[in-house]
Amino acid sequence: MRAWWSASALPAVEGALGALHEYAAHVADAQRPVCLSSGKCCNFQSHGHMLVVTGLEALWVWRQAARPLRSSAANAAQAAGVCGYLDGSLCSIHAVRPTGCRSYFCDRGDGQWQSTLSERLHNSITQLHDEHDIPYLYAEWTWLLAHVTRAHEQGVFSEPLPS
Ligand code: SF4
Repeated sequence: MRAWWSASALPAVEGALGALHEYAAHVADAQRPVCLSSGKCCNFQSHGHMLVVTGLEALWVWRQAARPLRSSAANAAQAAGVCGYLDGSLCSIHAVRPTGCRSYFCDRGDGQWQSTLSERLHNSITQLHDEHDIPYLYAEWTWLLAHVTRAHEQGVFSEPLPS
């Protein structure tokens, strides 16, 4: 966890993820999927969708998010099969959401372009791990987020949240 926390602050990681976000936006803009901001795709259990993220990206999102998530909220979200950052039907961390959220839309179209985009983004993130010798873990988002929030509150990679 500490290794991901440290790596998430590297300028090279920041630059690479920023470039991937721009690329994902470019591809999605060209395809124009219909997004009604219903929050359906963030409600994994009811939507039948699973978001998978690397440890590095999870810590990068955690570092960037303006609102720290408590482990109690993350645990409840995991149990419900919902993203802990979903606020009503909107993403509360839209600008810094994981790449997996940028390559999946309820409006699947033929589904192929989203699969291709998702694969490219993931390959680039895997390469980023290799280039900087960052430990690799690819895990389900709500599980990972619950672990990250617990570790944060235990002071594993940063100061504990004020009570
Ligand atoms: S990070 Fe935002 S877009 Fe991604 S699943 Fe959570 S609420 Fe939805």
